[in-house]
Amino acid sequence: RWAAAAGPRTVLLAEPRSFCAGVERAIEIVELALERHGPPVYVRKQIVHNLHVVEDLGRRGAVFVDELDEVPAGAVTVFSAHGVSPKVREEAARRGLRVIDATCPLVSKVHAEARRFASEGRLVALIGHAGHEEAEGTLGESGESGVLVQTVNDVAALPADRPVSYLMQTTLAEDEAAEIAAAIRRRFPDALEPKRNDICYATTNRQRAVHAIAEESDVVLVVGSVNSSNSLRLVEVAARHSPAHLVDDQGGIALDWLAGARTIGLSAGASAPPRLVDDIVAALRGLGEVTVEERVIAQETVRFSLPKEALS
Ligand code: SF4
Repeated sequence: RWAAAAGPRTVLLAEPRSFCAGVERAIEIVELALERHGPPVYVRKQIVHNLHVVEDLGRRGAVFVDELDEVPAGAVTVFSAHGVSPKVREEAARRGLRVIDATCPLVSKVHAEARRFASEGRLVALIGHAGHEEAEGTLGESGESGVLVQTVNDVAALPADRPVSYLMQTTLAEDEAAEIAAAIRRRFPDALEPKRNDICYATTNRQRAVHAIAEESDVVLVVGSVNSSNSLRLVEVAARHSPAHLVDDQGGIALDWLAGARTIGLSAGASAPPRLVDDIVAALRGLGEVTVEERVIAQETVRFSLPKEALS
């Protein structure tokens, strides 16, 4: 198997890949909280959906909890990049927690749209995935008006008793979300849509870049964790063109995948640290000569400022 997997080969790197501005900001918020307040710093849910990020911050004193009742009263508590519903904010206030909100500003933008549509008496159809923390937060902001739409089939079940609007989770596959949005507009031609695309720039860029490399690759590796929505979408987009696999790090690569593969596409989800990509290239070099090429489809310059409570 080792011999079959041996190089030489080309590694095609998708650019952009790896951390987005929202993830960098969320990690920085936890790091700053640890520095300023000292451990433990409690984080509700995984700060971003990546095993390595969570393990690293955990070693440095972050304590990840599922719900706020696991946090001692008055403790410093960070809300994750995926956002929370108003109920969680209310509970935190009730318990006197010192909250630092790491919700990505692009998720907060969707929350604001949800509140506006709901206050206008509209149904808020959220195109998204059940159980994902971001979807739970946005549905929470929509109150009684929110309904989750996961497939085109769900559109037929939407109630028609009031005007309709729709929103999207930020990490969806562009074309699938567009298909569901089109089905909503077919059934409700007056449906209001988000002012600007809810699928964020980082998701869009990473999907387009992985599409570009997948067309040229014998196999595509996407670095990311199994609960990372945007990483899973990258695997799906790549898999339309070549075999594609999600790996947490180089240890997850099966030698069989590399057998006969002369060109390996490599990308990483928005929550996956860039060093993991470097580690994979180094591991592939251990199997023979590797030429690295990058396919750049966009330059990202987005940066978000930190929330004021992170600096106090
Ligand atoms: Fe924000 Fe998009 Fe990154 Fe999510 S993937 S944290 S919405 S920039």
